[in-house]
Amino acid sequence: MSNTGANSRTAMSASKFTLLCNSHNCRTKLSGFAWVTACSHVFCDQHGTEEFSRTPAICPACSSMLSGKLDVLRTELAPSEQYRAMVLVGLQPETVLEISHKALDFWTYQVNQERLLMEYSLSRAGGQVLQMEKFMIQQNQSKELELNALRGEIASLKKVLEEYKRKYSEVLERLNERNRQYQKLQGLLDSLRMHTLGTVEKDPISHPFTTGLVKPRSSHSSPSFLGPEGDRFFSLGPENAKTFFQFNTPTRDRTQTFIKKN
Ligand SMILES: [Zn+2]
Ligand SMILES: [Zn+2]
Repeated sequence: MSNTGANSRTAMSASKFTLLCNSHNCRTKLSGFAWVTACSHVFCDQHGTEEFSRTPAICPACSSMLSGKLDVLRTELAPSEQYRAMVLVGLQPETVLEISHKALDFWTYQVNQERLLMEYSLSRAGGQVLQMEKFMIQQNQSKELELNALRGEIASLKKVLEEYKRKYSEVLERLNERNRQYQKLQGLLDSLRMHTLGTVEKDPISHPFTTGLVKPRSSHSSPSFLGPEGDRFFSLGPENAKTFFQFNTPTRDRTQTFIKKN
């Protein structure tokens, strides 16, 4: 006997279900006093007191009219031992069973309602998860597209950079070539100047004339090669440099022949 009692207590605690206030925005766990209705709804003491103080009373959960005297009842959820011992005493067994049956029906309804609500919440959450997954997939796809576009851009920019590098090395090569030409010409010019000056010092009579010929050249040559005029000269290309050289040679010859004649 005591063994069965222990078993039933374990079973009861395992399937323990706490009533929740059926007020949609409340859903608090009920304890102490609660309001139960003929339409099988239950409310916390606060909401029950608020809702059922006015007449006619209307169930906030299902909008049933609760006009009967016993349609709404404020009840103690965990009554005292003395109350439990006396409340059904003296009633016919059929009445006791009927009362128990009604109370169990109420309980079953509440448990089922709660299960349905949980199922609904679960399916809604599942739907939300699916939607979020879809959204994430879309986001990933668009990011992937963006990334591919950026990769393409990087590739084309790399190509442009390579092109610039190639052009730069070409220009550098040309610049080096022109520097070599310039050095060569500078060497020639120096030797020409030395030669001319040497000739002038040997022959002081031709001094005024040769000074006129040499001086502007010497004051002109070095800075103009370094300045923008020099650049413009060198930008004409190696052919022009050659002609410059060829042009210079006869001048020197002429100077020499002129000096020789003198
Ligand atoms: Zn409530
Ligand atoms: Zn109701």
